[in-house]
Amino acid sequence: MRKRLAVLTSGGDAPGMNAAVRAVVLVGTELGFDVVGVRSGYQGLLDADFVDLGPADVIDQIRQGGTMLGSARCPAFLTRAGRDAARRRLADARLDHLVVIGGNGSLTGARALTAPEERGEQQLAVAGIPASIDNDIGHTRLAIGVDTAMNTIVEACDKIADTAAAHDRAFIVEVMGRDCGYLAMATSVAAGADVVLFREAGKTVETLVGEVTDALADLRRKGRRRALIIKAEGVQVSAEGLKAKVDAALAERALAVETRVTVLGHIVRGGRPSATDRLVATRLGHAAVRALADGHRGVMASWSPGRLPEGASWSAADPRCALVDLDEVLAETARLIDVESPEARWRAQVFDQMGHVLRL
Ligand code: ADP
Repeated sequence: MRKRLAVLTSGGDAPGMNAAVRAVVLVGTELGFDVVGVRSGYQGLLDADFVDLGPADVIDQIRQGGTMLGSARCPAFLTRAGRDAARRRLADARLDHLVVIGGNGSLTGARALTAPEERGEQQLAVAGIPASIDNDIGHTRLAIGVDTAMNTIVEACDKIADTAAAHDRAFIVEVMGRDCGYLAMATSVAAGADVVLFREAGKTVETLVGEVTDALADLRRKGRRRALIIKAEGVQVSAEGLKAKVDAALAERALAVETRVTVLGHIVRGGRPSATDRLVATRLGHAAVRALADGHRGVMASWSPGRLPEGASWSAADPRCALVDLDEVLAETARLIDVESPEARWRAQVFDQMGHVLRL
């Protein structure tokens, strides 16, 4: 009897998810699995919304944004009863291998689905693939979608800088990332911004307003015609709220600088995946399916060139991919968000220092 493998995409969509689905189907087929796509994430598991997938269905998906399987948020999956129902649907369809492509929440769901205390005797092996533009998943250098999102932000900032310079304006550009400031940090450097604001620096709103106002005064002194301030979504003040406070501080110092706000929002999630996202997604998909074929049960395939995460093992399929226990991934993800992991502290420190040289 042939082995059977399900694949789903869940949570926030990210460019490159399709490239990962494609790799799972191609590698799974090659390794002797029948591959089944699950539509609409965990909701599709509950509804047994399955579709058979072969190489012809996915071959051109490498260049498509979004996700061909659809994604959804599924509150029922947060309950034990919901996950029991999902396990029954999988068993009924003889699906005992599952690849989950998604973010922090989706990987938490994957861990719960395969937890020994819940699944009992059911044979169910799950492998996760990190996909989130936020880069907020522990123990992977990159998640799928981060690189494309960075390119989209840089392109948008280039355009904003043109119009800002034409009118001698300061723009506050807010970028997505939930509680994680990585996109703001990295794109501030790549876009040549003047100031970057992110939650992990642990500064008060008053401090941030002071930094922005000082920077604008400095740029005015230097005769620069435009200012670009990149603000992470997770900073504890909205972009409009920040503008109001900065405007008030500028007025107090009798500085005539015109400020504007642009919130990039969901535009950052869409579009064709970059070459890096296609490459990372394909290699992670390959590593995840090989891990399942080799008997791993609850791991995430991680992009870890040159550095093996603690407690992880190298993928037998790819020397740049590691296999990390899902429990360890979730623990590290929490530490990353709480700025308690060495990686989170490193990011906050490096980009805070970088902030001082952005507008030299
Ligand atoms: P992302 O995967 O992008 O972080 P979400 O946080 O919305 O997106 O999670 C996607 C889905 O994963 C949720 O709708 C839910 O079905 C499932 N999920 C999230 N958190 C948990 C949890 N603690 N336990 C079980 N399932 C979860």
